[in-house]
Amino acid sequence: MKIYEMTNEQRIELLKKRGLINSKQAQGLKERQPITIDLANSLSENQIGVFSLPYGFATDFLIDGKDYVVPMVIEEPSVIAAASNAAKRIKNSGGFKTFPSERIVYGQIVLENLSVSDIEKLEQSCSEIFEFAQKAHPSLISRGGGVVSLKFNRYDDFLELELGIDTVDAMGANMVNSILEKTAQKITTMVSGDILCSILSNSGNGQVITAEAEIDFEQLKTKEMSGLEVAQRITRLAEFAKQSVKRAVTHNKGIMNGIDAVYLATGNDFRAQEAAAHSFAFETGQYQPFSTWKIQNDHLVGTLKMPVELGSVGGAISALPMAQMSLAIMKIESSKQLQSIIAAVGLANNLSALRALVTTGIQAGHMSLQSKSLAVSVGAEGEEIVEVSKILNQTKNYTIANAKQILTRLRG
Ligand code: NDP
Repeated sequence: MKIYEMTNEQRIELLKKRGLINSKQAQGLKERQPITIDLANSLSENQIGVFSLPYGFATDFLIDGKDYVVPMVIEEPSVIAAASNAAKRIKNSGGFKTFPSERIVYGQIVLENLSVSDIEKLEQSCSEIFEFAQKAHPSLISRGGGVVSLKFNRYDDFLELELGIDTVDAMGANMVNSILEKTAQKITTMVSGDILCSILSNSGNGQVITAEAEIDFEQLKTKEMSGLEVAQRITRLAEFAKQSVKRAVTHNKGIMNGIDAVYLATGNDFRAQEAAAHSFAFETGQYQPFSTWKIQNDHLVGTLKMPVELGSVGGAISALPMAQMSLAIMKIESSKQLQSIIAAVGLANNLSALRALVTTGIQAGHMSLQSKSLAVSVGAEGEEIVEVSKILNQTKNYTIANAKQILTRLRG
């Protein structure tokens, strides 16, 4: 039986049988357990409830020789289907290859009202400041990370001290901010200027990862189009995205569909990721797509390059039971491994979107999945949802008025 044909319960049992979740987690999923009030109160303020989103998984991700089931949290129909669909085409062609990055988070201490001699003194004290910062979070060093770079950048009215910090498996925002604030205090004892602020940068420049896939033409063909023609059309649309900012933004939104869904499923900070990704897209001065597509050696070759700013420990990741379950399902051992999976998911969602756009158009698949949400929005319940959605798909008239009429007729 295909996974999309299974009931929720059957899917949970499948994960349990594959050893990806334990009995307690399976039970928690079946009961749709929310987080406790204590946990909610400890994560954010003014709590009044829990906002649920669908939790599912994409299949057939073969990444660097390992098979993955990838948990995703998303309210948009078709994202999980699209990820799984492209992942299977890529798996049948040999799978994804990823080229992980360093794990450097940059932090800024912004100084002002410094005299020329203050600036010179600080610039000459690089090693002393470096050593101080290095000792500010000793556990990072014992884990193989810590401060890796220090440099001063002069602006018209400011001096910036930029620290590069390897945060190992943590996203690192709190760690980096603590190191910066301690270091800033040390600086105030050395010079008479003012500290304007100390904060990490979400630029993601130290965490740029590449994912690649070479897809056989056979995997791309449709009933109406050869695989070569689909591949050629994909490369032309990807080229257009390089030239049109309006298209590039939507190209990248399709990539973020998959990426954000895994961020949510793993309790990662998707705001940080969005900020990092879009600043990277604008790096050349013209907003660019995160991926490129070309034809090489009789294959369609997709390459995604972008920052992936995340952790596999710390923050809400360690606190949220569902985030822990997601990491367990993917058997995550390091943040680098999670970065690779997320980059592969972004590329998969991109391939699905491009293939649909240059063949049948995006609406054919999208609206047939969206029809269930439409049915629910007009009040359909239980079996009615399937029935209304089926008739919507037959009429291909996806309007509220049509959905209401269908439901009234069914109930009539
Ligand atoms: P934490 O403050 O939770 O720090 C990471 C924790 O993980 C530390 O306690 C560390 O232990 C522990 N740890 C265990 N194993 C490892 C390992 N292998 N590698 C690294 N650390 C390990 O989280 P972060 O510093 O990652 O900060 C993330 C949070 O900060 C997110 O919730 C984010 O939303 C938020 N944030 C984001 C900002 C931004 O993006 N601009 C700004 C401010 C906050 P130990 O103490 O022993 O080192």
